[in-house]
Amino acid sequence: MEFEAIIGLEVHAQLLTKSKIFCSCSTAFGAEPNSHTCPVCLGMPGVLPVLNKKVVDLALKVALAIHCKIARYSRFARKNYFYPDLPKGYQISQYELALAEHGYIEIIAGGKPKIIGITRVHMEEDAGKLLHDEGGDVSYSYVDLNRTGVPLIEIVSEPDVRTPEEASEYLKNLRGILQYLDVCDGNMEEGSFRCDANVSLRPMGQDGFGTKTELKNMNSFKNVQKALEYEIKRQTNILDGGDKVIQETRLWDAAKGVTLSMRGKEDAHDYRYFPDPDLVPLAVDDKWIEETKKSLPELPDEKRGRFVKEYQIPEYDAQVITTSKSLANYYEECVRLYPNPKVISNWVMVELLRRLKTDDREIEECPVSPKLLARMLEMIDEGTISGKIAKTVFEDMYLTGEAPEKIVEKKGLLQVTDQEELVEAVEKVLAENPKEVENYKKGKAKLFGFFVGQVMKETKGKANPNLVNEILRKMLDS
Ligand code: ADP
Ligand code: MG
Ligand code: ZN
Repeated sequence: MEFEAIIGLEVHAQLLTKSKIFCSCSTAFGAEPNSHTCPVCLGMPGVLPVLNKKVVDLALKVALAIHCKIARYSRFARKNYFYPDLPKGYQISQYELALAEHGYIEIIAGGKPKIIGITRVHMEEDAGKLLHDEGGDVSYSYVDLNRTGVPLIEIVSEPDVRTPEEASEYLKNLRGILQYLDVCDGNMEEGSFRCDANVSLRPMGQDGFGTKTELKNMNSFKNVQKALEYEIKRQTNILDGGDKVIQETRLWDAAKGVTLSMRGKEDAHDYRYFPDPDLVPLAVDDKWIEETKKSLPELPDEKRGRFVKEYQIPEYDAQVITTSKSLANYYEECVRLYPNPKVISNWVMVELLRRLKTDDREIEECPVSPKLLARMLEMIDEGTISGKIAKTVFEDMYLTGEAPEKIVEKKGLLQVTDQEELVEAVEKVLAENPKEVENYKKGKAKLFGFFVGQVMKETKGKANPNLVNEILRKMLDS
C-alpha cells in the first residue's frame, strides 16, 4: 500500500532577553553552574514569579510576523511533571489560553509556494540541565539550574507538512524569521532552537490521521530530515506487516542513524494542567499590538520583494537568499563590492550553498568572505582566471580561507593568454585528430565545440576560451 506522511512540528525557541521570564537572573549562556539562580527560579516555597514584559514584547513580534491572531487575554498554567531538572515540580507554560493562534508560514515546496498553518504560539519557561560524566564519574548526575526560567516560545504547526524536505524548509523559514526579528539566535547545536517532529502515516487518498510518534533530539536541519526519513520507513514497515504504530516519543540517534523508543507519550491530562494562581492573566491591548507591528523590521517576504526589484534577480534566487538574514546580508555585501547581482546570486546559490550544505554549515561559518568572493569574480573579468578554474579556486578558498591571488599563484592556475602557447596547443590537437579536421572541413560545423574541448583539456582548463575560439577559427578556416 502507498502511504502519505503527515507531519506537524513543535519548535521551542529561546528568547534573547537579558533576564529570565519570572525573575531577574541573567540568561547568559556558559556561566558557572547554578550561579544564575535565585529563590524564584530555584523553586523555593513562598516565592512569587513576576512576568518579564520584554518576553511578551518578543513573543508578540514573532506572533505578528507569522500572521497570528493575538489573544487580548491569555493565561499562564502549571504543567506538572517530575524531573530532576525541574525544581518546582511544574513548568509554567500556557495551556488553554495561549498568547496567539491561527497564523501561517509560507514555504517553497517542490518549486511552488505552500502555506503551513500555525496552530499557536505560547510563552513558557525552560527547565534546567542534567550533566553527566562530569570529572569522569559516571555514577552521578549533576544538576545545573542556570537555564531554569530562561524564556521560551513554543510555536506549534498544523499537521500540514507532508515530506521531510518540507519540514526542513519550514524550520529554515521559521528560524529565519526569528533571526530577522532578533528575538532568538537560532543556534540549534546549543539548543536555543529546538524542534520536535510529529509524524504519522495514512493510506494515500484517505482522510483522517493515523497514530503519530514524536521525534526529539535532532540538532540540525539535516538531522530533522534524516530522522523523519527513517521514521517514515520504520512506520511503513510496521503498517505493511499489519501491525500498529504505538504512540510514543522517540529519540534520534545521529551516530547510528535510527530513532529509538524513549517513553510512552503522555496525554495532556497526565500533566494535570491548571491556571497558575501566582500570576495574573496577561492582557494585551490594541496599542501594544499596534506598537509592536510598527517595530517589525524588514522580514524575509519583504526583503525578497525588494531584492527582485532592486537587484533584478529572479524570484527564486531572492527566495533562497533571503531565507536567512545572514545570507541576505552576505549577498548584499558581495553586491556592494562586485555590482553584478545575478553573477553573485548564481555563485551563492550554486557553489556556496552547495558547499555549506555538504558540511552542514551555516553562512556565519563560511570561510569565503564577501571580499574574497568579490575579488575572485573580478579576477575572472580581468582574464586572470577562467570561469572553470574559478571553481577550483573557490574550493581552495573554502578549504583554506586564503586570498584568490595567493591560490592562483600557489597552484599555477593563471589563465593561459599567451598566444604562442595556445597556438601550440591548438596545433597539437588538430594534428592528433586528422579525421575530425577532415570532417569539419567537409561541413560538420558542430565539431568546432569538440576542438575547443580538446584544447581546454590539453591546457588543463587554463586556456582563455575567447582566444582559443579565435585561434581555432583562423587555423581551421584557413
Ligand atoms: P500532543 O498533545 O501529543 O503534543 P498536539 O495535538 O499538541 O499533540 O500536536 C502536537 C503536534 O503534532 C502538532 O504540531 C500537530 O500538528 C502534530 N500532529 C497532531 N496529530 C498528528 C498526526 N496524527 N500526525 C502527525 N502530526 C500530528
Ligand atoms: Mg504538544
Ligand atoms: Zn532567578
